[in-house]
Amino acid sequence: MLTAHLPSGYVLGRLLPKTIAHAMPVALVGAVVPDLDMIWFHLVDNGAIHHHRYWVHVPAFWIVAAAVALPLAWRFGRLGAALVFFAAILMHLLLDTISGGILWGAPFSDHLFALVTVPADYSHWIISFVLHWTFAAELVVWAVALILWLTRHRPAQVT
Ligand SMILES: [Zn+2]
Repeated sequence: MLTAHLPSGYVLGRLLPKTIAHAMPVALVGAVVPDLDMIWFHLVDNGAIHHHRYWVHVPAFWIVAAAVALPLAWRFGRLGAALVFFAAILMHLLLDTISGGILWGAPFSDHLFALVTVPADYSHWIISFVLHWTFAAELVVWAVALILWLTRHRPAQVT
């Protein structure tokens, strides 16, 4: 997924109960955290390997992180925010699975699982992704986020 991780975090934050403290900022951060590996990918590795192979895109890493962090968050009264964070991470990995590929089998498999393989039909991979039908998923996420943002101040209907 190229562009829709941040708006997907907004959608998640909007759909969560208002009783969860700091749900929106945590959802926004969690939705983009795995792509922070792009800094390493570009500045250190010079694109040597697919950035989805870095540990921040590996589900097994986040399972271990959640196993450590969630009990601590519960102990310190921050379980709701911690659950939102890991839900946003999971959402990121699921969205990346559409066409980007995720190491769902790691550490037992090094296969990047993707629902659809985007062919390199154009001179630059970004053009190939943007003009592929799977980019419609990104547009849907953006549209939902935009609708939720435009209706953010409407009071709930009382029936
Ligand atoms: Zn990603």
